[in-house]
Amino acid sequence: MTAVPILMYHSVTDRPAPGTRALSVPTAAFADQMAHLAAHGYNPIPFSSCLEDGMSLRSGRDAHERPVVITFDDGYADFHENALPVLERHGFAATLFVTTGWLADAGGDAAGRPLDRMLSWAQVAEAAAHGIEIGGHSHSHPQLDQLGDRALREELVRNRGLLEERLGRAVRTMAYPFGYSSARVRRMAREAGYDTACAVANRMAAGAADPLAVPRLTIRATTGPGTFARVVEGRDIPLIFLKDRALTRGYAVVRRTRYALRRTLVPQRDAPAGERS
Ligand SMILES: [Zn+2]
Repeated sequence: MTAVPILMYHSVTDRPAPGTRALSVPTAAFADQMAHLAAHGYNPIPFSSCLEDGMSLRSGRDAHERPVVITFDDGYADFHENALPVLERHGFAATLFVTTGWLADAGGDAAGRPLDRMLSWAQVAEAAAHGIEIGGHSHSHPQLDQLGDRALREELVRNRGLLEERLGRAVRTMAYPFGYSSARVRRMAREAGYDTACAVANRMAAGAADPLAVPRLTIRATTGPGTFARVVEGRDIPLIFLKDRALTRGYAVVRRTRYALRRTLVPQRDAPAGERS
């Protein structure tokens, strides 16, 4: 069985904003991590190719090809400034999940509260032109599992529609903001036209993974070279990831319960798009 490590990045910068500090990776560390992948014969592939053309998460690829998926969430401006040049240098594929309402020149579509400087539409298009796969990440970055059906559908459809319209290419993959999803969110993601979606479960993606809840491994400010090497090898998932996984699971139960309570209390009302719970 070939498990494909799917790496989750956010910001790549030496000067992170307060809201992204824990999940940002310094520019030099990112360059070292990509150099490690190149030196050890890893083969980065776009997220969507994990699950298409017979490449199941099981064993579709020869293990010797060492497939790995590199993903970036939200669409920070530093992706263009600091990450893209490194990816280009190595000829690495990657997938960028964009929150359309956060983009620097979202204009009348602006929604939500970006955590740092964001990409412009021209920069997203430039990344796409350079072979970066663009995926959805909701329109305003809400906790999707906490939204009513109407607002949830709006977040998914508006995000995908804007990306397809502005980039002129099909968008069939997405990542859930905060990694939060539920059976209802996954069903509506499929209805909105997504074939694959990323969660954040901090374990390797293996054969049984739901294509609409593919787990990723968080790379963060404190991920050192030794940890990174072990994570991409998948031989040994370090303790920090196991601890995160336990927290993620426990919290999912709390969140499902909270949503069920909200539905019971206000069964008729859909939350407006962009509302944060
Ligand atoms: Zn996000």
